Amino acid sequence: MILKQIWTANAYRNFNYLIACSETGEALAIDPLDYEKCLRVAKEEGWNITQILNTHEHRDHTGGNEPMVRKTGAKILAHKNARDKIAGMARGLGAGDVVKVGKTVELEALDTPGHTMSHVCLLSHTDQPASAAIRYSMPAPGIAIMAAIRQSFTRRFLSSSPSCPNRH
Ligand SMILES: [Zn+2]
Repeated sequence: MILKQIWTANAYRNFNYLIACSETGEALAIDPLDYEKCLRVAKEEGWNITQILNTHEHRDHTGGNEPMVRKTGAKILAHKNARDKIAGMARGLGAGDVVKVGKTVELEALDTPGHTMSHVCLLSHTDQPASAAIRYSMPAPGIAIMAAIRQSFTRRFLSSSPSCPNRH
């Protein structure tokens, strides 16, 4: 997995990301607001952007979708509950869904409510150490949101805890 962090140098102070398969050159663009910069980096690297992933529905993360789809034909992925907020979504992600990029990259979608209630993070299963590719800013959440975060993470991490082979 090759990860490129792209600094947009705009007033939003967000990063855009490209994640590429080292074998096929297929790439996933994450929150490509500065689609021109992302396309330039992809071109320099010889990558082909086939998917766009929005971590959440805010305009400073989705604003580059439309022109990037026009230039690349990439499919848009985001949290399944963001369908009515993000135009042209091709795939809605739930907790545990896997996003494949080319042959070598597999990213698990994590349901991470907080900043918005339809927010995803990605966890790499194909690189060691596992790397969370997405960062998100989170203002102090309210109690209901904290409960949703706890529920989501408890579900995720309890389900992956190792079980004792001798216990049935
Ligand atoms: Zn936001």
